[in-house]
Amino acid sequence: MTFKWTDENVQKLKKMLANGKSAREIAEELGGISRNSVIGKAHRLGISAQNEKKKAKTASPSKEVKKKAESNVKPIKQVIHISQATPRSSENSCQWPIGDPGTSEFKFCYEPAKPGRPYCNEHCNIAYRKIK
Ligand SMILES: [Zn+2]
Repeated sequence: MTFKWTDENVQKLKKMLANGKSAREIAEELGGISRNSVIGKAHRLGISAQNEKKKAKTASPSKEVKKKAESNVKPIKQVIHISQATPRSSENSCQWPIGDPGTSEFKFCYEPAKPGRPYCNEHCNIAYRKIK
């Protein structure tokens, strides 16, 4: 079976890219086409919507935060102590670290924090229970 970039297939490609499908998934869905061809076609269409790029984009703004967190994070009690000592009142989002520092999964909770606290309701409960 020879694959052709018909209008229909191009529409499918666009739709799946928009839905965050990977090139491999799209290639499987369209059938008879390689992952590289999907990437190439997307590139020619001016769609650079690769999943990995999206992830990298969202991860990069927190890089500095991440570095700081890495040096602070080791014993969890210490982190809580530091956060209490220097509440960042300008940032009203939860500073609770989620995931392993140094991995791409690592991030902060970012739920709205309780007034005067560095964490959201849920994480306040955890943090202030642990510290006792
Ligand atoms: Zn939280």
